Amino acid sequence: MALVNPSFIDEVKRSDEFNASACMNCGVCSAICPMGIELLPRKLFRYVLLGIGEKVLNNIEAIYSCLLCKMCEVNCPAKVHIAENVRSLRYVINKKVFKI
Ligand code: SF4
Ligand code: SF4
Repeated sequence: MALVNPSFIDEVKRSDEFNASACMNCGVCSAICPMGIELLPRKLFRYVLLGIGEKVLNNIEAIYSCLLCKMCEVNCPAKVHIAENVRSLRYVINKKVFKI
């Protein structure tokens, strides 16, 4: 069972750039991603907003597979700051998991 931690969003949200809530789950990002990263950003960003940090931390490989190429971002109809959001996730993982 996934545990909900309402403060997880505060840990991830380093700045106002984290705007995942604008995502309308259209699927453009997943369709266009050169790495075929199905998880980003539709599921992972939603996990953050819901406070399910455990699910985010279970997908470290996908988070670090992102090239930060912004192919998804420039085509996102909701103007979600996808690359910046991924950087925010990496920031938290670096602190929590890798202790750096
Ligand atoms: S393209 Fe934008 S709005 Fe569509 S699923 Fe991806 S992040 Fe959400
Ligand atoms: S920024 Fe990351 S998630 Fe977006 S298209 Fe590039 S590799 Fe895929």
